Amino acid sequence: MKNIALVAHDGKKDTLLDWIGKHKAFFADKTLFATGTTGQLVAETLQQPVQCMASGPLGGDQQIGALIAEQKIDWLIFFWDPLSSQPHDPDVKALIRLAVVWNIPVACNRATADFIIHSSLYQQNYQREVPDFSAHNKRLSTP
Ligand code: PGA
Repeated sequence: MKNIALVAHDGKKDTLLDWIGKHKAFFADKTLFATGTTGQLVAETLQQPVQCMASGPLGGDQQIGALIAEQKIDWLIFFWDPLSSQPHDPDVKALIRLAVVWNIPVACNRATADFIIHSSLYQQNYQREVPDFSAHNKRLSTP
């Protein structure tokens, strides 16, 4: 649970920054990934490096999704805005979908992020179950 991806839509960036600002110590030893604008703001707030992808609408959500598919992300914090439409809505759906496909914990709001960060599982070196898709992959190779 060391590698954390953060994404926040414009209407939720203040909420995310306020929340991470209250948990600076928690993030200090984590490796952080983020979409472009979110990442810059998170790096300023936490005063620590963030591996920034492209901005979300320019492909950053898809880059985070690719990292999830490569098993490089342990937890997705995705504060999406339910009150505004997004030009990259298909990418937003795809990102949430990949997190579910790969059994990654996803916090889409502050309450869920609070529950995860305070979970006793964090202290127990929790290993999520990585789904076995070998049967799915084999079906493509049958004649
Ligand atoms: P941003 O992208 O961090 O570049 O603003 C977030 C998003 O809209 O997915």
